[in-house]
Amino acid sequence: MHDLIEAQNTIQFLKEHGISAKKRYGQNFLIDRRVLERIIEGADISENDVVLEIGPGIGTLTQALCKSAGRVIAVEIDRDMIPLLEENLADFDNYEIINDDVLRVDLEAVLKERGLEGRPIKVAANLPYYITTPIIMQLLESGIPAKSITVMVQKEVADRMQALPGTSDYGALSLAVQFYAEAKITAKVPPNSFIPRPGVDSAVITLNCYSEPPVSVKDEKHMFRLIKAAFAQRRKTLANALKNDSSLGLTREKVEAALDSLGLAADIRGERLSLAQFAQLSDIL
Ligand code: SAM
Repeated sequence: MHDLIEAQNTIQFLKEHGISAKKRYGQNFLIDRRVLERIIEGADISENDVVLEIGPGIGTLTQALCKSAGRVIAVEIDRDMIPLLEENLADFDNYEIINDDVLRVDLEAVLKERGLEGRPIKVAANLPYYITTPIIMQLLESGIPAKSITVMVQKEVADRMQALPGTSDYGALSLAVQFYAEAKITAKVPPNSFIPRPGVDSAVITLNCYSEPPVSVKDEKHMFRLIKAAFAQRRKTLANALKNDSSLGLTREKVEAALDSLGLAADIRGERLSLAQFAQLSDIL
């Protein structure tokens, strides 16, 4: 078994097996020990933890997870990775690999079938960048009891998840993530931490999931429809953006009256509203 915590071993393993990364699966293999350690630290894993890993690849992060967690369930889409993973995990017996597309896997059912229903889990991953947002939203919305989600993502996406109102990065993703979790970037990662090098900078971000959302709202779905409409036309005033989404059935006057009752200007843009203000607006409308 190659100890992949050492970057040289990973590089050698990739060479020996003639592995060429598949672009269509967003394969960028981690070759940076310090970054690996930052993911493990951010995920704060102990032997009592069940960890879900998405996209284990050849098993670099998986080895580290198997060392510190009680149990690791890893979902990998690429069939060609499975024998390589098994080779690299030969010293461990606390893991399971599911060869499937994570977006098609019913994660709640996976936990239930293994007697882990309701058991808090932690998620750790170096995510494939082409589907980062759908995976994050799946994890947050799927109803799995995730305690925390520690992932490597494109730096720009990490910035959006952590962004506050009034900044250019603030948008629907920021609000969706912050409804479910407290987001904190713990490391910035340059392209040369991977083989092949991605064309963008990356970051490790931890989402510490709330047991209850930080704001109360009567109809979450309605609030997120407002948020989506607000940021679909972020240059427009909020009242115009909401009026223009015919599925909401709102007039500009109605939105302006609701904003007024919240003490907000009639010409305010959506990017100025906090999560709590979107929740209040949704309740009024
Ligand atoms: N964990 C490895 C590492 O850190 O070196 C590989 C990370 S690589 C950025 C992303 C991994 O996700 C690849 O192994 C890729 O095959 C896998 N992947 C891509 N799309 C996936 C999907 N829809 N479901 C599950 N795994 C996926």
